[in-house]
Amino acid sequence: MAAIIKPSIVILFVLFACGERINSTLPVAPANVDLTNAFYYTINLNDRTDLTFKVRMFVDRLTQTNEIFQFAATAPGTYSILDFGRFVRKFKAFDKSYNELSVTHPTTNQWKLSDPERTRVIEFEIAETFHHPVPTHRVAYSSIAYDNVIINPFAVLGYPTGLKERGFYLKIDLPPDWTTGTSLAKTDDGYYYASDYGRLADFPLLMGSLTTASTSVGNTEFNVFTYSKTNKISAAQIVDAVGQVWQDASKFLKGLPVKRYNYLYHFDDSFSGNPLEHSSSSMFPLTEFYFAQDLGRLKTTSAHEFFHVMTPLTIHSEIIEDFNFAYPTASEHLWWYEGVTVWASIMMQYRNGSINLKDLPGQFASHGPIQPQVSLSNIGLSCYVDGTQWGNAYTKGALAAALLDIRLLELSKGTKGLRELILELFEKYHDQPFPENSFNDILTDMTYPEIGEFLKQYVKGTEELPIVEYFNKLGINYYNRWSLIENSTTEQQTLFNRWSVNF
Ligand SMILES: [Zn+2]
Repeated sequence: MAAIIKPSIVILFVLFACGERINSTLPVAPANVDLTNAFYYTINLNDRTDLTFKVRMFVDRLTQTNEIFQFAATAPGTYSILDFGRFVRKFKAFDKSYNELSVTHPTTNQWKLSDPERTRVIEFEIAETFHHPVPTHRVAYSSIAYDNVIINPFAVLGYPTGLKERGFYLKIDLPPDWTTGTSLAKTDDGYYYASDYGRLADFPLLMGSLTTASTSVGNTEFNVFTYSKTNKISAAQIVDAVGQVWQDASKFLKGLPVKRYNYLYHFDDSFSGNPLEHSSSSMFPLTEFYFAQDLGRLKTTSAHEFFHVMTPLTIHSEIIEDFNFAYPTASEHLWWYEGVTVWASIMMQYRNGSINLKDLPGQFASHGPIQPQVSLSNIGLSCYVDGTQWGNAYTKGALAAALLDIRLLELSKGTKGLRELILELFEKYHDQPFPENSFNDILTDMTYPEIGEFLKQYVKGTEELPIVEYFNKLGINYYNRWSLIENSTTEQQTLFNRWSVNF
């Protein structure tokens, strides 16, 4: 018996060894993934050496017009040059037999495939952005650490030019004890899937040793995923501290515009970045030090990112709708996307009684000093070439929104303020963008000719905002910490009463 069995073992071993060799040298996409209309991406997070993402992409049916492989030069909501091509460390293309095909690197964010028709596999390593300093345009949209990873897909993944409308499958291999927080949906086969690159870019992922907590407001489910480097901050604590703003948002918006929303908080004192909004989630790379003592600090920031569901994620111009990842294209309505959002995230709390009048000056000033004689439209149009004015879109933009609200309430005799205008715009533009060049005309048509004048003077133009005069209409002394004027008129009191509540 032994003499018969022995050769069989040898044969089996050889077959097994051949199988292993073939699998490891000839990568193939899963049979249930249709590569004629989609790409299949894999990221191996079990190998986090050199703090780079090891990425493999399976492609098919590329043509000469798709020879340029593009990494994002910018991304929605950032209004900045990001140039993720700067972080690519290796880039290779292969044919179906895994023979390497040559590539060239014509510009910062582009790699050129020498033979796109024969290309079946693309492999690259791209550094995470937190710990890899760059001399200009510092960015912080991906991170790798021993117990957690942040992926904003636009910071890690690219697309062949002309094909960003194909579907994107994504499989991420990660340590088995890690938790993943994301709104990116999975297919029945267990792959993440987005119908195009713009959608893929809309779903950040936070993975690692996380705490989680959930709550509901009306029909909306809020899930909080939290990484805290020294475990000072848990998701349950955040739900307790921040939960009120979801109630405030619901009152302000007369119901919440999403069914499910994921908050991804990353607390680490060694780095922080700008929180970034998405249509069903937002990512907050913050320090533990700043927030551990007072989680209430998170409220306005959390309200802000959530309000972005209204604008720019829903109410936006055609430039935002058909977002150009390769060639940054500015929209003049940045003040609306950010300034109006700052205003709304504060006023939703004030009008629901969560903060007081005395809290408002500090909240409105939290994005830095106002630079008075600057055109808000020009700040938007120049955001990619002049980053110095960017903060003013928030500070001056928020005050412009506050004045627009007061003027609307005055003209409508207290029946339609900025909140009501936003709700009307949401109805009108929830499934279509507004035209970039006629938004101010649209706002005027939906309100009063005087609003056209307001936008011409204070948004397009460089006239100083009439802050004192407008707040006086409410009986508020703006430069005395928004204190109420003694002996205010009935007219002032009536307008103040309308301004102070969600009616
Ligand atoms: Zn914002």
